[in-house]
Amino acid sequence: MEIKIVKTQNHKVMPPESELGFGKVFSDHMFVMDYEAGKGWYDARIVPFASIAIHPASTVLHYGSEIFEGLKAYRAENGDIQLFRPMENVRRMNNSADRMCLPTIPEEDMLEAIKTFVDVERDFVPYSFGTSLYLRPFMFGNDESLGVHTVKRATFMIIASPSGSYYKEGINPVKIMIESEDVRAVKGGTGEAKCGGNYAASNRAGEKAAKRGYSQVLWLDGVHRKYIEEVGAMNVMFKIDGEIVTPALSGSILPGITRKSCLEVLRSKGYKVSERLLSVDELIAACKEGRLEEAWGTGTAAVVSPIGKLMYEDVEYDVNGGKIGATTQELYDTLTGIQWGKIEDSFGWIEKV
Ligand SMILES: *Cc1c(COP(=O)(O)O)cnc(C)c1O
Repeated sequence: MEIKIVKTQNHKVMPPESELGFGKVFSDHMFVMDYEAGKGWYDARIVPFASIAIHPASTVLHYGSEIFEGLKAYRAENGDIQLFRPMENVRRMNNSADRMCLPTIPEEDMLEAIKTFVDVERDFVPYSFGTSLYLRPFMFGNDESLGVHTVKRATFMIIASPSGSYYKEGINPVKIMIESEDVRAVKGGTGEAKCGGNYAASNRAGEKAAKRGYSQVLWLDGVHRKYIEEVGAMNVMFKIDGEIVTPALSGSILPGITRKSCLEVLRSKGYKVSERLLSVDELIAACKEGRLEEAWGTGTAAVVSPIGKLMYEDVEYDVNGGKIGATTQELYDTLTGIQWGKIEDSFGWIEKV
């Protein structure tokens, strides 16, 4: 794929690494590529970061044709810049595209776009452990007409945001509210796709939880409101009676790359791991009987996020005394160790840029 590169004349100055938040400041450039039915993808380019013009009738503004990915470029201890399983993001982006009737991109081209873009922005990858250059590939339908149909025009872009450590003040377990009214997804719906609309629909429950002092929502399945699905923008795992239990990918859960990696690490360390249906009743019973040893969320942003408290039907339950557990810590150390190049990548997950 030919990628045209137009460098900016105005190099941006980033805040100090200790003051970087998440997704607030952006690097100098952006990757853009356009699609038209019959013509395919064309005009791949890296250009100065800027606002884009959108036709007021553009499909994305009316019918929500939008998908995205999230991955990070890490600065290893030896200065190398590296990606973590980027082909997994590429494949998931195409699966999301399929679900939303947006055009797919040849895998090698999308990977090349990501790597070329990171190479152009390499100075924006921060140095301290825990910080990274967060990459946001996204695609939207861009027909300039109000007709409801599969899009004939689309745009694929990648933007990058130097981001601070998720755990600036140490790894503090979060409080989670189990939501029993709103649902995030149903089988056959868009829960498996990383699409913007899923987030828009989940904000109401998120706000309700926040008002009560909980940082995220734990979703139950949309049909029975009974089975555990995932947490906010993370998958979820529990250690019950020594066994690691996580909801199976049922068709309404986002297949997380951190989830997959955690399961592979756990299995390699000899843990008993089971992907299955887990009902909220079983979970709460385990809480009450002291058999729920640990709980944590998994996702690219936080890597693993220990859960210290669970609230269900107005009753709050403590998990591991509100502290991070040994397995959660082990997973955090292993994944971040590989990502930031502190320990050997025995799984072959790292790709250098
Ligand atoms: C992105 C995302 C995750 C986590 O996926 P990772 O690949 O591990 O970052 C989990 N749930 C939802 C809803 C997501 O959008």
